[in-house]
Amino acid sequence: MTNSAASETKPEVVIELKQMNKWYGDFHVLKELNLTVTKGEKIVVCGPSGSGKSTMIRCINRLEEHQAGQIIVSGTELTEDLKAINEVRSHVGMCFQHFNLFPHLTVLQNCCLAPIWVKKIPQAEAEKIAMKFLERVKIPEQADKYPGQLSGGQQQRVAIARSLCMNPEIMLFDEPTSALDPEMVREVLDVMVELAEEGMTMICVTHEMGFAKQVADRVIFMDRGEIIEENVPTEFFDNPQSDRTKLFLSQIL
Ligand code: ADP
Ligand code: MG
Repeated sequence: MTNSAASETKPEVVIELKQMNKWYGDFHVLKELNLTVTKGEKIVVCGPSGSGKSTMIRCINRLEEHQAGQIIVSGTELTEDLKAINEVRSHVGMCFQHFNLFPHLTVLQNCCLAPIWVKKIPQAEAEKIAMKFLERVKIPEQADKYPGQLSGGQQQRVAIARSLCMNPEIMLFDEPTSALDPEMVREVLDVMVELAEEGMTMICVTHEMGFAKQVADRVIFMDRGEIIEENVPTEFFDNPQSDRTKLFLSQIL
């Protein structure tokens, strides 16, 4: 393909929210969200506690359901259809604040569980894949330990490796470093930066603004269930538009 042909190719849209709304009972938690993420893009989502960041992320792989508008992931619209939900989940990996590893399984077993049971990959092959990703997050020597024997930073790296074992096209992170002691934040961010550099499509809820500046293509600011502002990091930080964004930045920077 020539350069001009390549530049004319439209970027592939992998996540699309169209006028998406969600309520918890009477509480309108997500309001008319519109968001388009193309392949390889890195989006950082920030905003005050309770603004709906986790809920939005959780809707994207249907851990929560939305009530109005559309969510389309890798060409599949999320509805109550289980086939669509499973299809979307096969493209999306997720890491949470609290790791959510199975405490009674070793690191290796945690990583192999879904590949064996969901993807029907033979155990020996699943273990090979798991070791590859444990090496990538730099803890292959912990494979036979239990989560409780690891530091928080190591556990979060296992959680990332476990997601990668399912070969996701998109990774969602929900404050992956906010439960960690400060000295462990860097080791997790380093893994995330590497993933970003390898071209993974990522949506990261985080208040690590250094990370946002380093890897984000766009920063999205949410408040009270709305996307208030989105911009490239330099503009977002140096030239915030809305008063709510300015206030938020003044509190965290
Ligand atoms: P954030 O991640 O930005 O802190 P959340 O998405 O966790 O915000 O929460 C957004 C709002 O929705 C908050 O007011 C929270 O109390 C409320 N909320 C979250 N989960 C539930 C739930 N399961 N039922 C009712 N309200 C909820
Ligand atoms: Mg949250």
